[in-house]
Amino acid sequence: MKVTKIHTYDLTYPVERAFANSCVWNRARTIGVVEVETDAGITGWGEGSRVPAVGILTHALGRDPFDAQVLAAEATTAGCTPGAWSGVDIALYDIMGQAVGRPVHQLLGGAVHERLPVYASGLFLYDGDEPTAGLAQEAGAYVAAGFSAVKMKIGFGARIDAARAAAVRAAIGSEVLLAVDANCAYDAGTAIASTRAVAEHDIYWYEEPVPPTAVEAYREIRQAAPMQLAGGEALEGLNEFRDIVSKRALDIVQPDISIAGGFTACRKIDALTEAHGLRTLPHMWGSSIRLAATLHWQATLPEGAGLVPEPCLFEFDMTENKLRTELALTPYEQRDGYVVVPDAPGLGLQIDREVLARYTRKKQSVSD
Ligand SMILES: [Mg+2]
Repeated sequence: MKVTKIHTYDLTYPVERAFANSCVWNRARTIGVVEVETDAGITGWGEGSRVPAVGILTHALGRDPFDAQVLAAEATTAGCTPGAWSGVDIALYDIMGQAVGRPVHQLLGGAVHERLPVYASGLFLYDGDEPTAGLAQEAGAYVAAGFSAVKMKIGFGARIDAARAAAVRAAIGSEVLLAVDANCAYDAGTAIASTRAVAEHDIYWYEEPVPPTAVEAYREIRQAAPMQLAGGEALEGLNEFRDIVSKRALDIVQPDISIAGGFTACRKIDALTEAHGLRTLPHMWGSSIRLAATLHWQATLPEGAGLVPEPCLFEFDMTENKLRTELALTPYEQRDGYVVVPDAPGLGLQIDREVLARYTRKKQSVSD
């Protein structure tokens, strides 16, 4: 089997109501989709947070998709970053799975989890709102929908962070897990003040207080914070994870499969994390392609050894995003607080080409 064509699609989707984390207003969702065709008639789909210029992908033409690791190494040599290669790697695994009639998680050694507990990822700031407006209603709706964990946005200063966390905790009760995400808004000292300000609301983890390359700041915050520290969603490739993991600057490591380099890179990163006694809980923020890929990979991550292991929580993005809800013919949904790991060959995904065309602003192709 050989790769015959590669198409890249830049997709953008304008949201109806803009929403903000601590640093960025989201007015549109933008992703890169990769389609890889083969001479066997099998087509694979992948997603990157962005896609490379197609010229840099020509080395994959005429090559066997089962050589995904070789092709990833050649891409790096050719100047393609792990982040830009992510979508191609995911598409190659989709092809391999379809070729052998097995789900991708079996290509990775098999699923430890048949289903994963989900957390509702939302609770942003909306245009014109007071800092806590709408939080109680939104958080309460997640609990009513069956979620046993939620993640909210903070990073607006310690006092506002505490007020927002208090509003959500009051709405969800004492049993639902609550994580907070500061999206790199702070320096080390301000971050530590924020961790202390929100701590009384029983915070399961505190995410991205500072930019991901500030390893020493993460170490300092981790030592001072009264809860677990999470981060890493923006890092690319094994090497960018090396210092933050080996210097024990995080408790929970959060690679994003469409940024970190696809299955090939993420398997190395989760091995590095496991060897250091830290947890991997993937980040997921994108379309149904990234969601499916994350499910297959996360299903293979180890369960804790205890009788009551920590939940292997899957990030379920609850913001408005038609690239997540419409791009696949069978969208993934949570039921009773869980999402089922797909068992169909490959990623187990069928793309709605009308939806793909509707949101594509640029398509590029290379062929053999
Ligand atoms: Mg985050």
